[in-house]
Order: sequence, then structure tokens, then C-alpha cells
Amino acid sequence: MAVTEPAPAVVPAAHEAAGILRRQSARESAARTYARALPIVPVRARGMTIEGADGQRYLDCLSGAGTLALGHNHPVVLESIRTVLDSGAPLHVLDLATPVKDAFTTELFRTLPPALADRARIQFCGPAGTDAVEAALKLARTATGREGLLAFTGAYHGMTAGALEASGGARDVRVARLPYPQDYRCPFGIGGPRGAELAARWTENLLDDTKSGVPAPAAMILEPVQGEGGVLPAPDAWLRRMREITAARGIPLIADEVQTGVGRTGAFWAVEHSGIVPDVLVLSKAIGGSLPLAVVVYRDDLDVWPPGAHAGTFRGNQLAMAAGAATLAYVRENRLADRAAVLGGRMLAGLRSLAADHPCVGEVRGLGLMLGVELVDPGEPGAGAGESGAAARRRASPQQHALPHQRGHQTPPQSHDLPDTRPHPAAPELAAAVQRECLRRGLIVELGGRHSSVVRLLPPLTITDDQATAVLDRLADALAAAEHSHRPAADGRLPSDRP
Ligand code: PMP
Repeated sequence: MAVTEPAPAVVPAAHEAAGILRRQSARESAARTYARALPIVPVRARGMTIEGADGQRYLDCLSGAGTLALGHNHPVVLESIRTVLDSGAPLHVLDLATPVKDAFTTELFRTLPPALADRARIQFCGPAGTDAVEAALKLARTATGREGLLAFTGAYHGMTAGALEASGGARDVRVARLPYPQDYRCPFGIGGPRGAELAARWTENLLDDTKSGVPAPAAMILEPVQGEGGVLPAPDAWLRRMREITAARGIPLIADEVQTGVGRTGAFWAVEHSGIVPDVLVLSKAIGGSLPLAVVVYRDDLDVWPPGAHAGTFRGNQLAMAAGAATLAYVRENRLADRAAVLGGRMLAGLRSLAADHPCVGEVRGLGLMLGVELVDPGEPGAGAGESGAAARRRASPQQHALPHQRGHQTPPQSHDLPDTRPHPAAPELAAAVQRECLRRGLIVELGGRHSSVVRLLPPLTITDDQATAVLDRLADALAAAEHSHRPAADGRLPSDRP
């Protein structure tokens, strides 16, 4: 079937867009999120480009919070949706079998690590990632008869009760919080493979110490790359350690690939980088080809929960399954994961050379097309976020004064023989300014990380070389502008404070 061009969207005049935004802020909840930092009214979108009602065009590096593997309105996605609509198939079928669902499941299983695919069961969940997390936790608790859970600092698994418990920041007695490995803000102050190995030993020790206060858990849940946590790729060796540790103790390992799946990190599933095979995979976002869809895939021996254990009305979204199957097939056939690896590597290198000129960049990191730039106050290492550079300066000893190029890897006087690499404090206000300056230059980026100080790039896997260059150019300009407006003058005031 020929791919037809979409009918022109109804585009309000620019002044009407202002009214729409005004009404949104008057009517919508104080809990709204992206809409606060991105006051635009999208009316048309194709690929990586969004057009606002004011006629402004933006390169979209948010991609529906990492959902749009093929960008907006990809022709194969639109065609798959139209085919279902034109076929007369029912759109709402609860969890009944349909040819559309059958095709989706076949395509999904085809992409799974073979060791999981051979024994996989799938549960279609309510349409959000968080519901699939709930299902995974329930599945593991039912199969093991245990309640406790192992989860990681900085984790994000969703907003419903169980998923929220598993996320960093929650205080739940059933969840034992373990250190997630990271270099720049390594909890052990050393980063690298040694920091990750210490994190693994901490986990091991907690499980084997009969007086650790941690009961035998129902599962361990982890993200192979923490996205909302600030773009932290877990080292492969650490992931393999987590797999060994959990396997040796009969603890199901749940990999939350809601954000990392479908080629995003340079492999079809992020667990493939390390070669680990989780017992449970939680999937959403890109698997629905831009429409809501969430599933749990798990090994058959865990399938001991009773009928109705995880029910829900909206578990049969036929349009999402069709769009998802088309997306999965397109990513597989066009080797877009490989493309993400190559282009992501190139963008990472570009961001690192940009960082060399900007002392406010604490660290650049990422895997595939999941990239992050952590912004810091280059003044002093070791202050908490929110503590001003000046306050930190007052606190710091003269020896602790940082040279800008040292990026927080200082060696203050020590009374022990551990290397002490202290990061600079996070710079959330600067990050927000960079996001604003990006938007002014036609670039949509997301913020994440512990103090919302990590600028995140999640472009579609279909991003062209030219678009990648444009993203880096606009970000470089935005960074320079934001840095300038945040640089204190000799009188200690910021340019933005001056009349
Ligand atoms: N897990 C991860 C890793 C996520 O990134 C997210 C969403 N950002 C979720 C779960 C929750 O998904 P949803 O917002 O669709 O509930």
C-alpha cells in the first residue's frame, strides 16, 4: 500500500497558541512535568522534527521520554496503524487472541536473547511501563513466596506504588537499597571497575550476612542504563556480577528495559552488551511504536501465578501492537541498533570535546543514543547541590581549591590511602538554563539525574548525521550562553542579577 501524506494538521495562529498555553497552566495539575520546561504547542511532527503552533521547528531529543525509536509519525508506523483501522478489526479486545497480537508477540520473541526466547512467557499489562513493573514484582513475589526486593540508588521504575517503592528516593521497608555503580559520583570515591566491584561486594555481603537485616528477597530489579537517574550505564562486568550473585542465591533478576530497549543503547536489548540473560524483562515505551503498550517477558518456570493475578481493561491495544510490531521489525531489519552504536559513539566524542571547553561539564556519559551531560559548579569539589560555589569556597580549605580543568578529581589531604575523587556540586539551575537556551535554538532536551542537572539526549535511532551535527552545534551554543549568564562577575553577582 502506498504511504499517503498526512492531512495538514489544524494549526492555530501563534496568538491562539499563547492562549492554549495560558489555559493549560490555569487548568492542569501542579504535578504536570515536561509542559513546564517546554512551553510549546506541537501541531505537526515528522521524524526528529516537531513544529510548534508558532511556526517554530524543533529537533526533538526527548522523543517522548525515549519512546520514539523511529521518531515521530514514521511511515511504517502510520501504515501499520492505517492497515488495522481499514481492516475492520476490533480495536478493543481485552486480552483475547488476535492476529495483530499474534504478529506482535512473534516479532518480539524473535528479537529476545535466545536463551530467554526459548522459554519465554509474556504478560500483556496495563499500558504504562509502571504497570509492567508492578506485574514483574508480583510475578517474582508469587514465584518465590518472598516479599523483599533488591533495588538500586538512583533507580526509576515508575509512579505506581510498587514501582515507586523500587525507585531511588522511596523509603520502603521491603526494599533493600544497593549502590548502583557510577564513576563521577562513585559512592566509594574511586569509580571505574574497582568502584563497581566494591558495589558488587556490598551487595554480596548484604545477602550473605545473616545479621544484615535484609531478608531473602523476591527479586532484584535493575536498569542496565539508568535513564532518569542521570544516564548511568552499568559496567558489563558489574551486570555479570549481579547475574552471578542472584543466580547463585535463587533470586530472580528483573531487567527494566522500559527505556533502554529496542536498539536505544546500541544493542537491541541493553542486556546484550554484557551477555546476561535476566529472568524477567520489563518492556514498554518503544515497543508500542509511539502508542501505549507494556509487557513483561519471563522464563516459563516463574509462571505460577493464578489466572487474573495481573488483570486490567486496557491490555489489548491493537493499534499499539501493530505500530510496535512494525517498529520492532524496522529496527531489526535496518540494523538500527548498530546505527545507534556508531552514531552514539560519535555524538559522545563530540560532547566530550565540547566538555573540554566548558569547566561546568562534570562528566559526559552514555551508551548508544542515550546520552547525558552532567553540569556542575566548577568552583569547588564536594559541596552538595544547591550549595553555592561561594558557600563551598568558604567551607573549603585552600588546598581543596579546584582548578577548572580538574573536574572534581581532586586529591585533598588524606589520612588514609584511598584515592579521593570528589565530584563538583550539581548545577540544577545551570542545567535548566541550558534546557531553556536549547529550546530557544530549536532543540528539545530533557533533564534528569539526582539534582536534575544532567542534560539528556534521547534522539530517535533514525537521526541523520546532519541532524546529529545540528544537535551538537545547538547544544554548544546553548551551553555557552547559559554558562555566560551564570558566570559570576568580580562583584560576585551573576549577569542575570544585574540591572
Ligand atoms: N522504568 C523505566 C526504566 C523508565 O524509564 C520509566 C519511565 N521513564 C518507567 C519504568 C515507567 O514507565 P511509564 O512512565 O510508562 O509508567
